[in-house]
Amino acid sequence: MPDPVFRCVTLVGLGLIGSSIARGARARPGLAGEIVAYDNAPGTLARVAELGIADRIEPEIADAVRGADCVILCAPVGAYAELAASIAEYLAPGAILSDVGSTKQSVIRDVGPYLPPGVHFVPAHPLAGTEYSGPDAGFAELFENRWCLLTPPPGTDASSIARVEKFWRGLGSMVSVTEPAHHDRVLAIVSHLPHLLAFTICGTADDLADETRQEVLQFAATGFRDFTRIAASDPTMWRDVFLNNREALLEMLARFTEDAQAMARAVRWGDEAYIEDKIRRGRKIRQSLIDLQQA
Ligand code: NAP
Repeated sequence: MPDPVFRCVTLVGLGLIGSSIARGARARPGLAGEIVAYDNAPGTLARVAELGIADRIEPEIADAVRGADCVILCAPVGAYAELAASIAEYLAPGAILSDVGSTKQSVIRDVGPYLPPGVHFVPAHPLAGTEYSGPDAGFAELFENRWCLLTPPPGTDASSIARVEKFWRGLGSMVSVTEPAHHDRVLAIVSHLPHLLAFTICGTADDLADETRQEVLQFAATGFRDFTRIAASDPTMWRDVFLNNREALLEMLARFTEDAQAMARAVRWGDEAYIEDKIRRGRKIRQSLIDLQQA
């Protein structure tokens, strides 16, 4: 049998994404010879052991990364600087350090300074997820037919990028290489702003009087229900995403606010054509996603 893409993959953080990588890599031969799990929550590691989704559980991060030829950070992005500082001296020369964080300029800013010579840094972001978190939430098929964006800094070793790409393709993803700032702007509009709106609208509804709140829940089988699904996402993860993609998120929010004001004016003045045009554009975007099999 040919050598696997990586002899030993260490996953740091075994929540939704980390445990899905573990499950996916186990389900497909040829990706990882050994899967090592580290998480700062002992309860999470105990659960990973029960689930049997890693070959080795390491409660000490130094033992987890020592000897691995690929280490993937799968914790919330706010933890990356501290994690990078704590693993740097244990990373083997020639090893690849990667991640799955939802913001990419911040990851390069936070991890880059700790990178030891001879270690290749290939940041990645799988555009796949659910509103659930923790090791029980993961599943092997999460990344199938989803994009994974790689944002290697200029000058990154090409064969390391190719190996990370092969790994994600093996998990079922389509892979594209993009520039980190571009990544952060695109994700601000397609992911971070929609989450901000969902958290905000749920908060607004929750601020209403008790009686109304009951009705909100009772009649939630409308658009509101879709917002509550998104708003059920992990608070730490999303707090870190907002704070680490601050500029792009605030820019998209400002643009959205202008457009929402324009819609409010159209509603106030009965501008039927404007309202209809916006709704038609929304339907068109939904149809495009269905056509691209990304709905
Ligand atoms: P999650 O289910 O909450 O899992 C995160 C895991 O990391 C938890 O087990 C958490 O433990 C652990 N953790 C926290 N701080 C740590 C540290 N310092 N060292 C080691 N482990 C630590 O979150 P997730 O959805 O898998 O997200 C993980 C990463 O993937 C984030 O960077 C996120 O931006 C990215 N991402 C998420 C999605 C998505 O839709 N969810 C999609 C693509 C990428 P505790 O439970 O104790 O905090």
